[in-house]
Amino acid sequence: MFQSSSKVPDDVVLCPFCVSDKTREFKRVGDLRHHVKTKHPAEMEVAPKGLFSAKTCFFFSLNPLEYAKLHDVDKEISAEAQYARYPMAKWSTGRTPGIEERTSKWEQALSKPPQRPIKRKATDSLFL
Ligand SMILES: [Zn+2]
Repeated sequence: MFQSSSKVPDDVVLCPFCVSDKTREFKRVGDLRHHVKTKHPAEMEVAPKGLFSAKTCFFFSLNPLEYAKLHDVDKEISAEAQYARYPMAKWSTGRTPGIEERTSKWEQALSKPPQRPIKRKATDSLFL
């Protein structure tokens, strides 16, 4: 693999529905979206609408830690995010890294706050 510096963002995603031997990787979320639309219409029919949004594709990324830096990812567990774990758990069966390792990477990536909002109690100042 070539190291083409920072020009190529490390946001490679995989197709969770291609469970056969070879990993189908896509350089961009848009490419994956096109792939699932054309190759997996049956899966897409039952999947939630936003499953392949940039936010949710975090779960399909090869490197969640990098992906979370490049994209806005859902900190809240949305319906799509919950759904995304199923095909990934299935997909990860018999692979390395397995689902446990992936899950811990997800948690690691999601728990890293991009900025720390300072929470002030609005009520405090009222009584001064
Ligand atoms: Zn596929």
